[in-house]
Amino acid sequence: KFITFEGPEGSGKSTQIRLLAEKLQARGNEVLCTREPGGTATGEAIRNILQHDAAGEPLGERAELLLFTASRAQLMDQVILPTIEKGGWVLCDRFIDSTLAYQGFARGMDIVTLDALNDFAIHARKPDLTILLDLDIEAGFRRLEERYSDSGESHDRFERETRDFHHRVRAGYHKLAQREPQRFAIIKADNDIETVSSNIWAAVKGALL
Ligand code: C5P
Repeated sequence: KFITFEGPEGSGKSTQIRLLAEKLQARGNEVLCTREPGGTATGEAIRNILQHDAAGEPLGERAELLLFTASRAQLMDQVILPTIEKGGWVLCDRFIDSTLAYQGFARGMDIVTLDALNDFAIHARKPDLTILLDLDIEAGFRRLEERYSDSGESHDRFERETRDFHHRVRAGYHKLAQREPQRFAIIKADNDIETVSSNIWAAVKGALL
């Protein structure tokens, strides 16, 4: 089975992936956790390009989109398809819906084009379930401030975008969930970790077990 996690930065995707993986493993399932962009050697190299503009040259919008898509195609062929074909579970941090929410609904690129590129990258094999960790924009900012003040990490892209941008991402995710309600489970992310985890578990059980 193939499950993706979507939602803004600070919604707790990586923690929830780890907790779901533990629950599935406890039932004897083979579980592979991965992320986008990345998850393969090529994908991690692409992630590096996406995070640090090469020699200060600004990365164009279309080039950025195609790099995300290239990383996804590589991850699909090298990791996701071989694992699910063997009967394993794949949990992936971001996937096709991040492209639609960020490049599409938030940055305004054409959704029909993005759908076609996504389908090409993944051989139209969509996730069996997509967990959308839904977080109020202001709560997202507060969480990231806490994270950065605890860790001393530098501020990420999230804080460089306007609040309006984050509203478009969130609204975009909701439109995607409406478009394919059978694939999506919307989970409120502003609860404590254990509550979110058990709500995710209920959604996984309901849909896939
Ligand atoms: O995966 P993570 O939460 O670290 O993502 C960091 C940022 O990468 C997002 O907030 C977003 O700005 C950006 N992103 C994007 N398009 C994607 C995936 C991520 O712009 N397809």
